[in-house]
Amino acid sequence: MTKLDNHYPTQELQARDAAHHMHPFTTQSQLAAKGARVIVRAEGCFIEDSEGETILDGMAGLWCVNIGYGRSELADVANQQMRQLPYYNTFFQTTHIPAIDLSERLANLAPDNLNQVFYAGSGSEANDTNIRLVRTYWAMKGKPTKNIIISRKNAYHGSTVGGGSLGGMTGMHEQGGLPIPNIHHINQPDWWSEGGDMSPEEFGLARARELEQAIETLGEDRVAAFIAEPIQGAGGVIVPPETYWPEIQRICDAYDILLIADEVICGFGRTGNWFGSQTVGIRPHIMTIAKGLSSGYQPIGGSIICDEVAQVIAEGEFNHGYTYNAHPVAAAVANENLRILQEENVVQHVRDVAAPYLKKKWDALTDHPMVGEAKLVGLMGSIALTPNKANRAKFKADAGTVGYICRERCFANNLVMRHVGDRMVISPPLIIKPQEIDLLIERATRALDEAHAEVIKQGLWEEA
Ligand SMILES: *Cc1c(COP(=O)(O)O)cnc(C)c1O
Repeated sequence: MTKLDNHYPTQELQARDAAHHMHPFTTQSQLAAKGARVIVRAEGCFIEDSEGETILDGMAGLWCVNIGYGRSELADVANQQMRQLPYYNTFFQTTHIPAIDLSERLANLAPDNLNQVFYAGSGSEANDTNIRLVRTYWAMKGKPTKNIIISRKNAYHGSTVGGGSLGGMTGMHEQGGLPIPNIHHINQPDWWSEGGDMSPEEFGLARARELEQAIETLGEDRVAAFIAEPIQGAGGVIVPPETYWPEIQRICDAYDILLIADEVICGFGRTGNWFGSQTVGIRPHIMTIAKGLSSGYQPIGGSIICDEVAQVIAEGEFNHGYTYNAHPVAAAVANENLRILQEENVVQHVRDVAAPYLKKKWDALTDHPMVGEAKLVGLMGSIALTPNKANRAKFKADAGTVGYICRERCFANNLVMRHVGDRMVISPPLIIKPQEIDLLIERATRALDEAHAEVIKQGLWEEA
């Protein structure tokens, strides 16, 4: 990486940031006291901070920079599109070439009969669209009260009022009066934390059957749709037992409800196929997309909708839209991102090279005294930290205390790895090479050793 001159001392940048910039999902006062890490540039799988430290980005930004940093083709396309047509809307019976190209490419990439795309600026907005879309679909079919959407606890579907309501994050529901009416949450398939004495297979079936029970209780004539991430991302990379998704698909087939797969993280190669739905073997009516769609180079999201639903919606006016629907610059960049992923066979690289290479080393982390289980599907993975692997015990400290210590040790070792409670999660750029995977494991191991020592020192190595 060539170094850019950093004209401002870090402390000055941090003070100016703290003075005026409010950060998401952050306790402002704590961050202000500590100072945010200032990221100044990035290349491939590495980011660089204002102190000149080079950090391996084990999270691909926020699960999104699938193609890696520094692809000048994307900058060139944005530049060209801004000069030619920086903006035009698609409301007034108008369209533009980036929207046409991207929609066609997405229809070709998406499975089966998923052929229509409705754009948004983000994953949250796309899920807001989905709420209105599925309810409008049933209303247009003469069933306006078929309007309940079933989701799951600890799911993440975004942070708008609609997205946050669909999601199952208690911390979010506690603020701002969420969820909106007619959203129903069932339990998640997290065997490690909630499986008790059941085998993973039994537990997967039991949790899937909660969907059937909910439909029976609420009434099939009231339930519009079920929404879920093929593999929960922000919830801690929870990989469901093998029995879970086939049972969910059976239930969705048996009852007349729509299946929405939130592919915002799983989509575009993350799990070793183009879509997570293919990896877990489901046939959704609608897929939510964002993040990897543009590899984060531009903000864009959307819904890919099956013919059956799109045809019903097409009979009336759908009173819904965003100023930046199919924004031409974002659409052009997304299209170029997907072209590169296709032409450079990045998804095959994940499936055949990077994921199998990482999986061996990731699984071996369970040899560490603090690591209970290790899960990896494609290039999204997690490890559960525990003081006792045999009974999957939690630490005696508040949930997340030990995870936070571990995350701090990762940062100190120039590795970005996030914690969700006491699970550590990774989601590196899909272009990661074997020697970079070696580095990731080396730094993660050092961070785990240091965190382990720190946990013992603080007297936290005790079962709850
Ligand atoms: C990130 C995320 C969203 C929200 O996307 P934003 O672009 O942040 O609004 C929705 N669903 C899932 C599964 C996500 O991971």
